[in-house]
Amino acid sequence: MRGDPDRLRLPYFPDHAALFVEARALPLSCAVAISPRNSVDDQGTIVAIERTLSIIKPDATERNIVGLIIVRLESAGLQVIAQKRVRWKKKDAKKFYDVHKGQPFYKDLVNFMTSGPIVLQVLEGENAILRNREVMGATNPVDALPGTIRKDFGVNLQRNSVHGSDSEKTAKREIALCFKKSEIVG
Ligand code: UDP
Ligand code: MG
Repeated sequence: MRGDPDRLRLPYFPDHAALFVEARALPLSCAVAISPRNSVDDQGTIVAIERTLSIIKPDATERNIVGLIIVRLESAGLQVIAQKRVRWKKKDAKKFYDVHKGQPFYKDLVNFMTSGPIVLQVLEGENAILRNREVMGATNPVDALPGTIRKDFGVNLQRNSVHGSDSEKTAKREIALCFKKSEIVG
């Protein structure tokens, strides 16, 4: 198998024989689309393997429910490939939430995010950005669907237990802000 130029090995499922793809059998567009950042599902559809930034916020670390939250993320097929518990300084929170500068909640948000330890994580998986947002639930816990992290653990609109990047561009920026390349270990 190894060394056969007509077969592409999908690195995320190294032992799954069914996922060896005959490159010569694919239209050019499909062959090009299969990269180490993509995968193929049971129906043969190409699925994006993405990375997203997750933060477990101070209201959750304070209540000792970090493990419960990680169980939800892992159960949804998201893999923690980088993780650290930190206490942000004001400048860190201000920079991270720069997009909200000028919003009425910005100052309080910065105060909240620096009020205690947080857990920063890079999550990886199929459509990880959207999947994480789905598992998190709506920003305001009262609007979040049953079974989501924010519905089950969030306290209020501000103290909503988790952060997740909202787009590919944001994910890249947020991961780079929070982790050195060498800290993303898989
Ligand atoms: N937030 C708040 N008041 C608001 C809106 C947002 O305190 O009216 C806080 C809340 O903690 C939220 C964060 O600011 O998670 C970032 O807001 P955003 O609109 O980006 O929501 P998210 O992407 O976290 O769902
Ligand atoms: Mg947001």
